[in-house]
Amino acid sequence: MPDTLLHVERLKKVYESPTGDVEAIGDISFRMSAGELVCIVGPSGCGKTTLLKCIAGLLAPTSGTVELDGERVSAPPPNMALVFQEYGRSLYPWLTVRGNVELPLKHKRLSRADRDRLIDDALTAVGLEHAGGSYPWQLSGGMQQRVAIARAVAYQPEVLIMDEPFAAVDAQTRADLEDLVRTLHRERGMSILFVTHDIDESVYLGERVVVLSKSPTWVQEDLAIDLPDARDQITTRALPRFTELRTHVYEQIQRAKRGEAVRPVSAA
Ligand code: ADP
Repeated sequence: MPDTLLHVERLKKVYESPTGDVEAIGDISFRMSAGELVCIVGPSGCGKTTLLKCIAGLLAPTSGTVELDGERVSAPPPNMALVFQEYGRSLYPWLTVRGNVELPLKHKRLSRADRDRLIDDALTAVGLEHAGGSYPWQLSGGMQQRVAIARAVAYQPEVLIMDEPFAAVDAQTRADLEDLVRTLHRERGMSILFVTHDIDESVYLGERVVVLSKSPTWVQEDLAIDLPDARDQITTRALPRFTELRTHVYEQIQRAKRGEAVRPVSAA
């Protein structure tokens, strides 16, 4: 498949410990194309973090492969950016907002003018064009997460990985940040892999939702989300199709939790 950006193939991860081995990931395979917004959803403890660590090159799989742009991932790839739930810990308190956004750009060979242009553009994209001189601790949680997102936007990665990024913010802020992610995807064509345990969030955001089984994990379903591209919190969530999709994913997760899901033949 020529336009495959990310290819996870037959990934398996067994944690070895003195008290016995834990098979966290059984057999996961999926592909993501450039420009897609894919959500991964699954019950707590199903191996989402383990999967992301393998994709990000932070953890070696027991078997199977991760390829980004045709290159096997065995260390953190330079063309990937990550945004985590713990925005507080991912920002440097002694650097201004601009300084935080600029940090990863220092590894790229850019002129001062190009760097400034990327920072200005990223801060504008997240609605923080007036906050460049502030320090992270002067900002609300939602604004701090916007800084983390601006840093990823300025870096211009081939893929942005987001690990439960909005789990720690209030509902209104979360809705605004979800819309920001949709906008970055639609207006800038960003390729985004978004991991969440929130079913509604996965359906609202994704073009596809990859539903994981419980641990040892496999892909229980790879569901196309056939909602209109232009989404908004009120009308999209009120669509009968939205309700059908969220109910479907909810039922799949319940089956996964009860261990009733049938392991697909291809993953056996
Ligand atoms: P999730 O992110 O979906 O909550 P995790 O990837 O954190 O799931 O964990 C998946 C499974 O692997 C769980 O059963 C967890 O207890 C186990 N696990 C995670 N990390 C380790 C580790 N370092 N050593 C042993 N078991 C682990």
